[in-house]
Amino acid sequence: MMAVQDVKRIYLSPPHMSGRERHYIDEAFETNWIAPLGPNIDAFERAVAAYAGTADAVAVSSGTAAIHLALRLLEVGSGDVVFCSSFTFVASANPIRYCGAEPVFIDSEPDTWNMSPDALGKALSAAALEGKLPKAVVVVHLYGQLAKMDEINALCGQYGVPVVEDAAESLGSTYKGKQSGGLGKFGVFSFNGNKIITTSGGGMLVSDDKALLGKARFLATQARDAAPHYQHSSMGYNYRMSNLLAGVGRAQLEVLEERVAARRAIFDTYKQALSGRDGIFFMPALEDSRPNRWLTAITVDEQLTGVTIPALLGALTDANIEARPLWKPLHLQPLFEGARFYAHGDGQPCCERLFNSGICLPSGSGMTAVEQVRVIDCINNVLEARAGSAAQTA
Ligand SMILES: *Cc1c(COP(=O)(O)O)cnc(C)c1O
Repeated sequence: MMAVQDVKRIYLSPPHMSGRERHYIDEAFETNWIAPLGPNIDAFERAVAAYAGTADAVAVSSGTAAIHLALRLLEVGSGDVVFCSSFTFVASANPIRYCGAEPVFIDSEPDTWNMSPDALGKALSAAALEGKLPKAVVVVHLYGQLAKMDEINALCGQYGVPVVEDAAESLGSTYKGKQSGGLGKFGVFSFNGNKIITTSGGGMLVSDDKALLGKARFLATQARDAAPHYQHSSMGYNYRMSNLLAGVGRAQLEVLEERVAARRAIFDTYKQALSGRDGIFFMPALEDSRPNRWLTAITVDEQLTGVTIPALLGALTDANIEARPLWKPLHLQPLFEGARFYAHGDGQPCCERLFNSGICLPSGSGMTAVEQVRVIDCINNVLEARAGSAAQTA
C-alpha cells in the first residue's frame, strides 16, 4: 500500500491562476501604483459591475468588509435586528455584531438548502407584530446555489426591508438570466483564496445605488471629509483593496466563465459516478438557474449506506484528500447562543438535518480527471466495504 505522503494531496478548492495575473501586477510595479488605489482597482471595479449587471462596484479588502459596509449603509446600529441565513459561514453574520445589532437566524428549505421563504415569512410577520422589523435581510447563496430570490424579494418588499445578497460563494451563478449579487439592494462577492476566483484576499460590494456606493468608498477610506486638512465627522474603516491584488482580480475575472464551466463539469462527473448509489444525494438546483457549483455538496443517508459522515471524512483524509462537513448552522454556534431562530416547517430544522448528513467534495477548477477519479474511487471503496460487511452480518 502506498503511504499517504506518497500521493499528492487533493485540496478542496485551491487557487487556480490564469497566467495573466503577473501582467497586471508588473504593470502596477512599473507605474508605481503600489497602494489601495490605482488603475487596476478602477478597471476591476468596472469589470465586476459589468459582469454582475449593477451600476457600480467597490473593491474592498474582504467579503466580510463588504457585508459590514452594506449594513453600515443601511444604517444598521446598536439595538437593531438583522435577519440572516443560518446555514452559512460565520462571516455572513459577524458584521451584524460589528454594527452592535443582533442576528435572527432563518432556516433553509430542501429545494435549495438556502433561506426558506416560509420561515422568513413567519419571522417577518412576527417582527411586524412586535413593531420591530429587521433593518436588513442577509441571504446567502450557499456553495453557489441560488436562493429562492423572487419569493424572498417579494416578502422583503412587502415589509420594506432591504435585501443584502451574500454572494461570496456564487460569483458566476445566474438566476432567471441575472447574475447573483445583482438581485437585491446590495450584493457581496469574496475573492478569498478558496473562492471560485481569487485575489488571495479581497471582496466587492455591488449595487445599482451609485450614491450609496460612493458613500461606501468614503467609509472604506477612513471617512475623510472634503477639507484641506484631515477632518472626520463619521467613523470609517481602512477597507480598500490593494491595486496589486486588483491586478490579480482582473486576470481572474477574464477566466471566470471557464472556471464556472469547470466546476459545473466536476459536479456532473461526481453526480454521474455516484448518484446511482442508494443513499447518496446531490445538492439540487433551482429551475431557471445556473449554479456555479463552487463546491460539490452531497448528503449521505447513514441508514441506506451504512456509512457515517465521520467515517467517510476519515477515509478521504487517509487518502490525502481534503473534504469538509457542510457549514455548521449559525444558530447552533456558541458565538450566537440565545439568538432567535425560525425553522422551516415542523420537526428537525432543515439546515440541522443537512449539517448532520452532508459533506463537500474537492471541487477546484484545476483538479484533473485522474484526481477526481481518485476521490470517486475512495468514496466507492468506503460504500462497498460497508455494503460488504452488512451482507456478511445479514
Ligand atoms: C467566504 C465567505 C464570506 C467572507 O468572505 P471573506 O472574503 O473571506 O471575508 C462570507 N460569506 C460566505 C458565505 C463566504 O463563503
